[in-house]
Amino acid sequence: MTYLRVSITDRCDLRCTYCMAEHMTFLPRSEVLDIEELDRVASTFIDLGVRKLRLTGGEPLVRRGAMDLVERLSRHLSSGDLDELTLTTNGTQLARFASDLARFGVKRINVSLDTLRPDLFRRLTRGGDLSKVLAGVDAALACGLRIKINTVALKRDNAEELPRLIQWAHGLGADITLIEAMPLGEVDVSRVDQHLSLRDVRDNLASFWTLTDLDYATGGPARYVRVEETGGRLGLITPLSHNFCGDCNRVRLTCTGVLHTCLGREDASDLRAVLRTSEDDRALREAILEAIGAKALGHAFQIADRKPALARHMSVTGG
Ligand code: SAM
Ligand code: SF4
Repeated sequence: MTYLRVSITDRCDLRCTYCMAEHMTFLPRSEVLDIEELDRVASTFIDLGVRKLRLTGGEPLVRRGAMDLVERLSRHLSSGDLDELTLTTNGTQLARFASDLARFGVKRINVSLDTLRPDLFRRLTRGGDLSKVLAGVDAALACGLRIKINTVALKRDNAEELPRLIQWAHGLGADITLIEAMPLGEVDVSRVDQHLSLRDVRDNLASFWTLTDLDYATGGPARYVRVEETGGRLGLITPLSHNFCGDCNRVRLTCTGVLHTCLGREDASDLRAVLRTSEDDRALREAILEAIGAKALGHAFQIADRKPALARHMSVTGG
């Protein structure tokens, strides 16, 4: 395992319909790891060989102390123990934080954006302001950060707009990845109504663009093509159509310190208990090694059920 994602908060300033219920109950602060604990646990993973660290959430940039954490973790970039420190954000706070991120050694970030239509954005995020995200994207590019856009493909909402989003991202010099909506957590809308198969999307795009398969692999679930007409790279994440577990090199830590070795399974190890009962990092190292040793070989998502495949929301595990 060389890639760790850490959710640093379950809170968010948006309420995307596929991710959260309208009225979410967030965790009490005492259950969430503080900045020192996040630093300690992430640094222990780096000690054990993690080379790439992604901060996520919830929305990582609404977490108080997020920049303090990024600054602390940047010491591992300086020492050469970490190859990459990055984050996944909804972009609403980027205009404020882009220059700090660049200063602390972040080179690339993922920005999630499902539409360029202000009205649809407001509806999909239950009240969000698209202009803030676009200002954030501009600020990030101006600070020299490289951007990848993440877009959840939603049958009812943005299916028609996907070619325009791809053109827009490629016009900025950004990669873009389309994601199939995954059945994680109870939300207020039907998963079946939202599900759009990326096989169908790909077939549609291929009817007017030339898509060339690329070997480029990240060890993750995305498969990449080049769109010859735009010159840009397009990723397709198909958790429901494909099984990609054999190449998976990543584990996830929730903001409460629970380690999940697979996004699609219920397996979990409570590292917070270890963190809070022992000052000594040896016990923490052992707990991590034991959990990783038990990493399972596959998952079994299905969209057909109206019930979520797993009770936990993506905002808890970290996307
Ligand atoms: N708030 C940040 C953001 O939106 O980028 C980071 C956390 S968010 C949970 C990470 C990613 O997960 C986003 O790209 C979001 O679109 C995606 N996501 C959330 N719920 C999802 C679901 N049920 N299926 C597929 N992707 C989901
Ligand atoms: Fe918030 Fe990200 Fe979930 Fe949207 S996808 S509600 S921005 S955590």
